[in-house]
Amino acid sequence: MFSSILALLQSLFYPHCCPGCGEEVREPGVLCSRCREGVWHPRSFHPRSLDCPHVDGMFFLMDYAGAIQKTLQQAKFQGREDLLPRLGEEWARGIRQEGKFSWDLPPEVTLCATGIPTDPRRRKKRGYDLPEEIFRPWCRQEGYRWETLLIRNRSTRPQYGLTPEERKKNIKGCFALARQENLPDIVLLCEQRCLRLIQISKCMHSRKNRI
Ligand SMILES: [Zn+2]
Repeated sequence: MFSSILALLQSLFYPHCCPGCGEEVREPGVLCSRCREGVWHPRSFHPRSLDCPHVDGMFFLMDYAGAIQKTLQQAKFQGREDLLPRLGEEWARGIRQEGKFSWDLPPEVTLCATGIPTDPRRRKKRGYDLPEEIFRPWCRQEGYRWETLLIRNRSTRPQYGLTPEERKKNIKGCFALARQENLPDIVLLCEQRCLRLIQISKCMHSRKNRI
């Protein structure tokens, strides 16, 4: 009773705003319907359409634009950790609705999910990791093990504001495996920029342990 009165008062004096456009929304951290529609663009890429022998498939839920860009920037630079569980819910709902793994997920494989590692200094300063906060709850629901499988060898410049060519150069060779033994058959690489999932098979074993 008391908590519902408190929630009512809070919504009257401090209304929740869409992180994309600032419009008032009912719950904290949710995108308004217009912002969601602006970036919602679920699509799968089948291995046959990808020119990469170790990638089994990719699934993108959103375009990296507008509301999703603003939301991630607030989470990265303004301490808005509270926005990330909401993005995680969008992801879980989106991939359930739109059909994950429209490519083949082989049976009887060892599998784990991991995120692209953040620069350790930036992670420490921020106190949380974006991919982990977004995707880990979904992994738990699906029964996928979440692991820190990749590490960064060196610091990089922030990718924000760089051209595609500069971005490539900036991160070249900066990732490595966190361990060499007992690697899973399949890795689900989770990336927050379009809420994206990349399924990789055995790439760790054949590219000199670097991706
Ligand atoms: Zn909005």
